[in-house]
Amino acid sequence: KDEGDGYFRYYKPNLLPLIAERMQLENGLHKALLENQLFLCYQPKISAATGELSGIEALIRWKHPELGLIPPDKFIPLAEESGFILEIDRWVFREACRQNKAWQDAGLQQVSVSVNISARHFYQGDLIEMIAEELQNTGLDARYISLEITEGVFMRNIEQVIEKIQYLRRLGIQISIDDFGTGFSSLNQLQRLPISDVKLDRSFIRGITHDDKKSSIVRAIIELAHSMNMRVVAEGVETGEESQFCKDLNCDELQGYLFSRPLPAEMFEEFLRG
Ligand code: C2E
Ligand code: CA
Ligand code: CA
Ligand code: CA
Repeated sequence: KDEGDGYFRYYKPNLLPLIAERMQLENGLHKALLENQLFLCYQPKISAATGELSGIEALIRWKHPELGLIPPDKFIPLAEESGFILEIDRWVFREACRQNKAWQDAGLQQVSVSVNISARHFYQGDLIEMIAEELQNTGLDARYISLEITEGVFMRNIEQVIEKIQYLRRLGIQISIDDFGTGFSSLNQLQRLPISDVKLDRSFIRGITHDDKKSSIVRAIIELAHSMNMRVVAEGVETGEESQFCKDLNCDELQGYLFSRPLPAEMFEEFLRG
């Protein structure tokens, strides 16, 4: 029996456009990589103590020739499912290293750029090799790159993951836990992980100024992280009140639309001129 046929019959007709869109995106993504339709935007991280630029996060964008700008939430999950994320991760890592090296060579401020790496890369593929190769290809010093990983990384083979992270840290690469607080990992588990900082998910920051529960949770996370010598980054800071509140709670770094939206490289350069 024809499987494909049965598959489609199962769905209501109004789902077909969604499936078609999904297939269009999946097929298009390979082409996008080959034809330079992908590019990176950069968003500053600001030191809470000094207000100065303390880091940069690279965020991927896809400029589709017909569909226009496609946000990562639309295609990263598809790429995660299909495994194509391994190639996207490599491209993003290389491009972020190349760009940061070019900025350094142009005499602009030297600052670390963070790259989002899929959990899949810790189980499959050659994360360590990929990173070593691309650092060598681009000539960027390892201390100017950091990786953002989500708690999902610690779902399986935790010993093996910890070993990889320790190896990366010996190379001089910083590791952040992204979207901290949204996954399953407990505060308890944190102490086993050789990470440099935690990024508090935006959902904790939104409304924090008038939500006592939220602010107590955030205060506890920050105290615990600090007791383990980890830094805390608040993401999604949109208002001056949120920013002040996070500072008062001793957050180390702030990131969000209040300071800047993610910007294409040429526009971001302003931040590096100081
Ligand atoms: P994320 O890593 O948690 O990135 C933060 C997201 O929040 C970004 O959305 C950023 O533009 C957005 N954001 C920053 N400040 C604010 C703010 O003040 N308010 C609001 N409402 N949003 C803010 P973006 O760029 O659309 O990325 C969404 C997600 O897609 C990322 O979440 C990350 O999980 C994934 N992603 C983006 N770029 C890459 C990449 O290069 N590789 C991988 N594997 N995933 C990526
Ligand atoms: Ca991130
Ligand atoms: Ca995040
Ligand atoms: Ca996120």
